[in-house]
Amino acid sequence: MLAQIIFILALITAIIAFTISIKKIIRNINLGKDIDRTDHQPERWKNMLKVALGQSKMTARPVAGIMHILVYVGFIIINIEVLEIIIDGIFGTHRVFSFLGSFYNFLIASFEILALLVLLGVFVFLARRLVLQLKRFKGIEMTAWPKSDAIYILVIEVLLMSAFLTMNAADYKLQQAGVHHYTLAGSFPVSQFILPLLPTDINSLILIERFCWWFHILGILAFLNYLPFSKHFHIILAFPNTWYAKLAPKGEFNNMETVSHEVKAMLNPSYTPPAIDANNKFGAKDVQDLNWVQLMNAYTCTECGRCTSSCPANITGKLLSPRKIMMDTRDRMEEIGRNIDKHGKDYNDGKSLLDDYISREEIWACTTCNACVEACPVNIDPLSIILDLRRFAVMEESNVTGSLNAMFSNIENNGAPWKYSPADRFNWANKED
Ligand code: SF4
Ligand code: SF4
Repeated sequence: MLAQIIFILALITAIIAFTISIKKIIRNINLGKDIDRTDHQPERWKNMLKVALGQSKMTARPVAGIMHILVYVGFIIINIEVLEIIIDGIFGTHRVFSFLGSFYNFLIASFEILALLVLLGVFVFLARRLVLQLKRFKGIEMTAWPKSDAIYILVIEVLLMSAFLTMNAADYKLQQAGVHHYTLAGSFPVSQFILPLLPTDINSLILIERFCWWFHILGILAFLNYLPFSKHFHIILAFPNTWYAKLAPKGEFNNMETVSHEVKAMLNPSYTPPAIDANNKFGAKDVQDLNWVQLMNAYTCTECGRCTSSCPANITGKLLSPRKIMMDTRDRMEEIGRNIDKHGKDYNDGKSLLDDYISREEIWACTTCNACVEACPVNIDPLSIILDLRRFAVMEESNVTGSLNAMFSNIENNGAPWKYSPADRFNWANKED
């Protein structure tokens, strides 16, 4: 009975703590401006199923992609077993679903094989990070925490899968010994190989089985509460993120609504533009000027670096890294969130995403090629943030380099980026005559 009470308390505490963290993340995402992304719903569902559930963009890099799919599918399916653990924990039962008979045996056997595949995938990932030291996992933004975060989660997965297999092995041995409470149930194609490593003493076996059972479930509850502080939150956010992703062709830039209205009014004097919100800015200086989908993108970023390793600016040694753009956006949101918790929602810390997190050198290094957007396995759009920061620099501050200023003047005066009068545009053709 005491064990049941402790279990229920641990479960409730974990759920409450997770809910608090999620509410804070939703509040931070809602710092962004509203945007309607509910059009073309069938296409959105298709994108989500293909990209988030089907992991279609992961296989562009086959080794990492296949290993990731193994770890992902294995981890999700094995956690179905958590349902049984929760019911057993609350009611003090043991292997409550064993009444399913041979189907139960099939399920346990499948979970064990998946656990082995997850372990295999995780060891490959650890080797890529710690032994091969792939360039993709390095960069100025990959400071101590992002690096440790990736390693922690892999170690947690090794521990959880090992506890699961050891628990099954001890359980199997207790079943074979005919110990009361350990009814004959399950099939153990992987954990049976651990049997020789276990003691024969019944009390020690029960201790090992119980320890692994508690370690497994408490580990999962701890993992649940670690997720919102980790890049691994993408396990959850990849789904809404792909659903709300931009559907327009990747190279298509959005027009700024306020500018479109002005142009329409210039071309058609009878057109009355809607009233402009006095607080509205051109472009974005801070996260509140971005839209909520861009902010959700930042929380979804897996820090995989596929964008940065495809970015021509980064490859040619420029300061820009699209992964850093997303990580900076998330860090700035988190900072504002902490400020709200501490000082209230109107507090202004005098900082901004542009300049305090992302430099002008970074945003102007972008070629707007869209390679980062194309490469992202969860349909994140770092370019849209870069463009909004640039728009702010150009349209609110006129703070651009001399060469860009000259180009803008030429467009304004000549209708082209060059310094020739429109009347001289065909001089070259006349010379040919
Ligand atoms: S759009 Fe910009 S940030 Fe993205 S890959 Fe191209 S140059 Fe890099
Ligand atoms: S933006 Fe996408 S590709 Fe880039 S690091 Fe994040 S998840 Fe990976």
